[in-house]
Amino acid sequence: MSVEEEVMRIQKKLTKMTSADGSGQEQALDLLRELQKLDINLDVLTKTRIGMTVNALRKSSTDEEVITLAKTLIKNWKKFISGSNKDTNSSSTSSSTKPKKEKEDNKVKEDKEIGKKLPSQFPSSSNTTDAVRLKCREMLAAALRVDGNDFEGCASTEELAEELEEAIYQEFKNTDMRYKNRIRSRIANLKDVKNPMLRTNFRVGALPAARLAVMTAEEMANDEIKSLRERFKKEAINDAQLATAQGTKTDLLKCGKCKKRNCTYNQIQTRSADEPMTTFVLCNECGNRWKFC
Ligand SMILES: [Zn+2]
Repeated sequence: MSVEEEVMRIQKKLTKMTSADGSGQEQALDLLRELQKLDINLDVLTKTRIGMTVNALRKSSTDEEVITLAKTLIKNWKKFISGSNKDTNSSSTSSSTKPKKEKEDNKVKEDKEIGKKLPSQFPSSSNTTDAVRLKCREMLAAALRVDGNDFEGCASTEELAEELEEAIYQEFKNTDMRYKNRIRSRIANLKDVKNPMLRTNFRVGALPAARLAVMTAEEMANDEIKSLRERFKKEAINDAQLATAQGTKTDLLKCGKCKKRNCTYNQIQTRSADEPMTTFVLCNECGNRWKFC
């Protein structure tokens, strides 16, 4: 019997076990020990997806020994996979005739397989499967897209919507009427065609999600946005007085890529004088560039 067949035989038994009521932990331990003895290579891991099976067992098991051994196996396979990736790459650079593209595809495929078998132990805290919350994020993202899709260089509308929804959810810790009302009022104001500044400020990172999450209707309608705009203008005036060609440093803007607030911007009149100035932003941390009016 080949290693692959051997693994599949054990896998079949393990699968039955994970779906059962948690009995037969003794046998699970024996099966894991059998797996430990086998010489499982990348090919077998990929074909059988035994990593997923063992991980599922680890999650469903209540037996300390089973959990520990399952963890050890997964850890070893993970190490082995990343190690063998390096080997494949170094040997293929010297002797392989495979086109580069194909190798990259394989690498991506392997990474995906690893991802499937070994789901991240640290899922993002804002990950949610709650249908109400997901729907709210979707609606917030749609409101942000009123004047077009993602701005180049800025955080995506999905990302921004997620951040905003998360901030609101953290306040109420549930999706009751108050949560829904808060979401609804953000949506109404964000997609208000007469109030593009709110939307733009949020999209370019000038207005933090945590602030927007708690703003009153009055604040969203005008004052807060104006004052941000005023601060922005003031900085630009100071900049003009200093006559620096390098632009103005600011912590008002948040980079969409690295999420840091260390940017430099320049405001330039691109069209006629009565049209709004275009602001060009450069992130001093990661070099990301974007612009907005
Ligand atoms: Zn950046």
